[in-house]
Amino acid sequence: MLLEATDAMLRTLPTLRSAQQAGKQQFQPTAAEQQAGGQQGQPTAMEQQQQQQQAGKDDEPAKWAARAAAKLVGQCWSLLWHAVQLAHGQMQLHRRLSLLQQIPGNAQTSAMAAAAWKLHSTSCRSVHWSIAQGSVGDLSQWDATLRKLGGLVAELLTDERAVQGAMAAHLAALEAIADAQGPAGERQPQLAQQWAVHLAWLATRLEPDMWPPRLSVMLVEAGSFLVQSMAAAVDGNNPAKAPSAELVACLAEAADASAAEAPSAELVLTEWLGAIAGCPRAAYLMLTSGVLAQALAALEAAGGEKQAIQSAADLASKMCDWLPKGSPAAREVYAVDSRLAPLGAAAKEDNLTASELVDFSRILHSDWLPALVAVAAAQQQRREQRPWIQQAQALLDGGLAAATRSCAYLRCANLGGEGGPAAGSGAGSAKCSTCREAWYCGTACSHADWKLGHRRLCKAMAAWHQQQKEAAMQQRAEQLRAEVAGQG
Ligand SMILES: [Zn+2]
Ligand SMILES: [Zn+2]
Repeated sequence: MLLEATDAMLRTLPTLRSAQQAGKQQFQPTAAEQQAGGQQGQPTAMEQQQQQQQAGKDDEPAKWAARAAAKLVGQCWSLLWHAVQLAHGQMQLHRRLSLLQQIPGNAQTSAMAAAAWKLHSTSCRSVHWSIAQGSVGDLSQWDATLRKLGGLVAELLTDERAVQGAMAAHLAALEAIADAQGPAGERQPQLAQQWAVHLAWLATRLEPDMWPPRLSVMLVEAGSFLVQSMAAAVDGNNPAKAPSAELVACLAEAADASAAEAPSAELVLTEWLGAIAGCPRAAYLMLTSGVLAQALAALEAAGGEKQAIQSAADLASKMCDWLPKGSPAAREVYAVDSRLAPLGAAAKEDNLTASELVDFSRILHSDWLPALVAVAAAQQQRREQRPWIQQAQALLDGGLAAATRSCAYLRCANLGGEGGPAAGSGAGSAKCSTCREAWYCGTACSHADWKLGHRRLCKAMAAWHQQQKEAAMQQRAEQLRAEVAGQG
């Protein structure tokens, strides 16, 4: 299986690194790599590529030995990207086949889910490992692969708690990258865009209750930088005339030419708004920080009105669903929504007139944005009034999600450990002796996690564990009783 081979390859990073530092003359594939290759039968395109690269390096052992660790990590990640792409394609194909032949694909899907989960876990660990080695690499190097892999995990896994555990680890990896990259304002516009989209993507997959405060800060940071770069691009031209194609050209110019295709500003914003529409807390942040208003204004100035109208209309109707019916904020939004709805429909049909565009602009600035701010205030009020018991439940949920992992410490950088889906599967792994729920790959991680917050959760997790145990015992007793009654 390709995902498993890639997982094994990532795990050899520490071995490769030490071999590299020792300046070895000959590069020997490790046992894990040989095993991974052996499972394949026929070498895949990825492995052939890998072998060719190795052959090239064998010709110049000195050069290979001197190569920087960052480059090595980069290569692993680009191979990882191909593997994940292939896995994604395989999944789509499998899905279509099962639809055509009407066969349930459970066995294959669950095998793939386990492999994807394991690889995702290893990838998050390898981010922490690389950063600890001092090779941050390029932000774009991690972005696409991590996101696609996270998407596979979220789509394939059926256990919601395990998905939340994976997403929490994903966020911990993103936080580590952000810390290593320095201030958000100093990033390239294209990277800032990728970053914003990645964060919004993660925000919609992580239960809002489980959002750490850091995610909110990072979202707002990424959002303001995205808007600033859009506004700067618009200012460079004539804002009244600049069509969105020119805006895209400006952004593309500013971005690294060697990077993959430059995403269109409109596409990014639309995707972003779509992600926000699925996540009330993200919307709240965007609204109160004024980022959304600036973004829409920038988009409008750039000539992307139709897109903006459609997005605004979609978001407004979504807002209506979040609010308790009959509340003053809900009535306000309903009123604006009914005025935006026909314009949204016209934008979809692509037959907007000039006067309708002017109408939209007026409604957007005079009615819609103030109404959204009212929604944001109502959301915040509800959040603050939430009883403490619910907040404690959210914390416990987060702790239990982390406990589905083989190492509950979300910043675990131990690449040698098993790191598989099953907690407790790795050599040297041990569980917390108090709660008997959280597993760690070793004492270093258990100490680090205790400091990070497990000490505040351990007691509640122990109570939960006891409760589960008693429920299971009771169920077993009832089963036995039923069996005895059936025999008698
Ligand atoms: Zn660990
Ligand atoms: Zn514990």
